[in-house]
Amino acid sequence: MNIEALRRDFPILSRTIYNKPLIYLDNTATTETPRQVVDTIQSMYFTHKANVHRGVHTLSQEATDMMETTRRQVAAYIGAPSHEEVIFTRGTTEAINLVAASYGELLREGDEIILTVMEHHSNIVPWQLLRTRRGVVIKVVPLRADRSTLNLDVYRELFTPRTRVVAVTHVSNVLGTINPVAEMIHIAHQHGAVALIDGAQAIAHLPVDVGALDADFYAFSSHKMYGPCGVGILYGKRELLEEMPPYQGGGEMIQSVSFEHTTFAELPFKFEAGTPDFVDIAALNTALAFMSEVGIEEIARHEEELLRYTTERLRAIHGLEIYGTAPNKSAIISFLLRGAHHYDTGMLLDKLGIAVRTGHHCAQPLMHALGIDGTVRASFALYNTFSECDQFVAALERVASMLI
Ligand code: PMP
Repeated sequence: MNIEALRRDFPILSRTIYNKPLIYLDNTATTETPRQVVDTIQSMYFTHKANVHRGVHTLSQEATDMMETTRRQVAAYIGAPSHEEVIFTRGTTEAINLVAASYGELLREGDEIILTVMEHHSNIVPWQLLRTRRGVVIKVVPLRADRSTLNLDVYRELFTPRTRVVAVTHVSNVLGTINPVAEMIHIAHQHGAVALIDGAQAIAHLPVDVGALDADFYAFSSHKMYGPCGVGILYGKRELLEEMPPYQGGGEMIQSVSFEHTTFAELPFKFEAGTPDFVDIAALNTALAFMSEVGIEEIARHEEELLRYTTERLRAIHGLEIYGTAPNKSAIISFLLRGAHHYDTGMLLDKLGIAVRTGHHCAQPLMHALGIDGTVRASFALYNTFSECDQFVAALERVASMLI
């Protein structure tokens, strides 16, 4: 993996912030975008733009082909048995809302949903909206005493004959913990429940195979995998998607419409009402090609080395506490400088050209469980270098000497 060559594909990485070279360590929030992806967007607008699935004319067929090629490539990338099980959404959030709203229609008052304490708000609030509408019960898997991994003993005990859904994140966006989702899905299935996996933080960092996992639903966002904003994926098993009612109504999702009776399109179109974001969907295919060329194993290996190297060096900073110490961890480091507010740490790092995230990271229940109101979070991607890690640690030493 030639990182310097790869970095040249990302013009934003040559920016300066306060006259310092940008060091971008907020990859959990969004990854930066390579030139090839933006070239595809431009070529869609300048050469191929026409509405999809509608026209017999050449442009419409070209745009449709590009969109449907992405669907096939996504299916192949995640090991989905069929491209018809890949639904385009606006992002992870919309994918989870789709399942909560539509699969939720099949649930009854008193049915139970198991979430975990480390979920992003987007895998909590849609289920709470369902609770308000249908009276379902939400149960929560806590952390073990290590404050980093899920307590699977409690998880097993939460099941009852009323448990219908388990919704769990593959990788925590705060702690970096890689959850044992294959095992958790297996346990869910033993109890007759379906499992939704929030893959937002896994898809660009680990090999993902929904078939091998036996996931019922798997959700992720293009903008976190070097792709454009505005596109997400919901993978769902065909038999479940067929059983579920449509999420939204409109054009594209129907077979025939009359005022008396409307019939719906086949999968995947039943869940894709209205004109899709076919421009960005086409560009997602370029992002997939980019990632495939580097290789997900290679990306995972590089990021793990960055994680190990940086964690080791951060441990030497007096007064720095790391949150998230699971042995099986993605390249996300949440920390606090003792006595300093996370916001002040983040702001001072920004003045040194370093972009990190501060705050609750849309995981307030987890913050509550940890007894804090936020952290500073540095997260890595394939283009980050060891030299950037050194500069980050040096900057943090400076900030620590100022704040504590
Ligand atoms: N789940 C997790 C674990 C996330 O990290 C994020 C984004 N921070 C989301 C869901 C939501 O993704 P999006 O905003 O792209 O819908």
